[in-house]
Amino acid sequence: MSTLAQAFSCISDYDPNALTVCRAQEIILGLVAPLSGHERVFIKRGLNRVLAEDVIAPLNVPAHDNSAMDGFAVRHADLAPSGETRLNIVGTAFAGRAFEGSLKPGDAVRIMTGARVPAGLDCIVIQEDTRVEGPAGTAVVIPPGQRAGQNFRHAGEDLRAGQPALRAGKLLRPAEIGLLASLGQVEILLHRRLRAAIFSTGDELVSLGNPLQPGQVYDSNRYTITTMLERLGCEVIDMGVVKDDPATLEKTLQAAASCSDVIITSGGVSVGEADFIRSLMSRLGEVAFWKIAMKPGRPMAFGKIGNTGNSPWLFGLPGNPVAVMVTFYQFVRPALLKMMGAQPAALPTFRVPCLKPLKKAPGRTEFQRGLLLQDQGIWSVQPTGAQGSGILSSMADANCLIVLEHERGNVAAGEIVCVQAMEGLV
Ligand code: AMP
Ligand code: MG
Repeated sequence: MSTLAQAFSCISDYDPNALTVCRAQEIILGLVAPLSGHERVFIKRGLNRVLAEDVIAPLNVPAHDNSAMDGFAVRHADLAPSGETRLNIVGTAFAGRAFEGSLKPGDAVRIMTGARVPAGLDCIVIQEDTRVEGPAGTAVVIPPGQRAGQNFRHAGEDLRAGQPALRAGKLLRPAEIGLLASLGQVEILLHRRLRAAIFSTGDELVSLGNPLQPGQVYDSNRYTITTMLERLGCEVIDMGVVKDDPATLEKTLQAAASCSDVIITSGGVSVGEADFIRSLMSRLGEVAFWKIAMKPGRPMAFGKIGNTGNSPWLFGLPGNPVAVMVTFYQFVRPALLKMMGAQPAALPTFRVPCLKPLKKAPGRTEFQRGLLLQDQGIWSVQPTGAQGSGILSSMADANCLIVLEHERGNVAAGEIVCVQAMEGLV
C-alpha cells in the first residue's frame, strides 16, 4: 500500500465523501512538513519570509539610558519634597550628542528625547511642566510631585544583549524587519522560498489579451492564486491555462512536479469532471478527491504528484472563483505556512452581530462574504450581496468572511456570528 493511502487509513473516521472543514485542515496540516534548505539574505528582502535560526541580540536596545521626553534631567534628591525647586541649567543633551560637562548638586541639564541621560541624574521632568527663569534663562523651576526614574528609558529595556530577540519560525513582517535593523543585523538566515507551480484547467478559459468567444470566460483564478501566493512570499511558477485534455494535463503536471514544492490547480475536480483527472492523477501520484462539507468549495483534491525524486503536494481547488479563494485561505494558506517553516496560525476571528438575516443549511460550514462596519466604535457585519460561488465581486466588496459553523441553521438579524478578517495590519 502506498504511503499517502496508509496515512489516510490511519485517520479515524476518515471519509473522503464527508469531511468537515476542521478535519480536512487537520489532515492536511498533519501531513505537510517544513521544507529543507536555507539562505542568508539582506533583511529588507526578508518580508513575509520565515527565520531559520534564533537571532540573539548582540547588544542592548536601547544601548544606553536615555530620555523618553523633551525636558530637563535632574537629580531627584535635589527636589524639595513640597513646593517648587529652582535649579541651574548647565547645558543641553541632544540625541546623538551627549552632555559632557560636570554636575554639581542643584544642576539640571536640558534634555531632548533619545538623548543619553547624564550620569547621576535620575529624573526627567517634561518641558511643559517647567518654567525657565533667571538672566538669559539660566534657571529652571520644577514643580513638586516628580518621581525618581520618570520618563527614563533604560538600556536594554527593549532587547537585552545575549537574549533571543526573535525565534526561528518567526514570520517576518515590517515590525520584525525594523527590530532586526535596531540590532544592527544586516543579514539573516531564512527558510528558502517555497516554489508553487500553478495552472488553471478548463476548455472554456481564455488567457488575458485574447478576445472572448461565446461561452468563454477569462481565466481569473490564476490571478487570484498568483497574488495570494505572492502575499505569502512564495515564488510562483505560472504554467498557464490547460485544456480539459488528458495528454496536455499529464504533460503539464509532470513539468510542474519537476520544478515545484507545491502544485495548485483550479477547476476540473467537481463530480462532472473529476473522473478522467482522477485516473490521471492516480497514475502520476497519489491524490484523494474530497467532498468537504462546506460552501463554497465542496470538491477539492489533495495529494502528491510524482512517486520518485521531487514529489510536490497538490491542491486541486474547485473552479469557481470564490471557492478558489475560500479554499485557499482555509486549507492552502496554513499548509504553505507550515512548509515555509512558520507556525500556521489561523486567521484572526471575531464575534460580531450580523445586521441582516442569513440563509444557512445545517451540516456544512459556510463562508459568506461580509463587510465589517463600524458605528461609533461598535463593530458589526453585513453580507456583501449575492453569495454565489462564481460571484467574485462578493469577495472584492468584502473585508471579512462570515464563518457559519457546521451545525448552525439560518441566522436572524442581530445574531452574533464569527468573522475572519481578511486584511493584514502589521
Ligand atoms: P469546474 O470546477 O472546472 O467545474 O468549474 C466551475 C466553474 O468555475 C465553471 O463555471 C468554470 O467556468 C469556472 N472556472 C473554472 N476555472 C476558472 C478560472 N480559471 N477562471 C474563472 N472561472 C473559472
Ligand atoms: Mg472545468
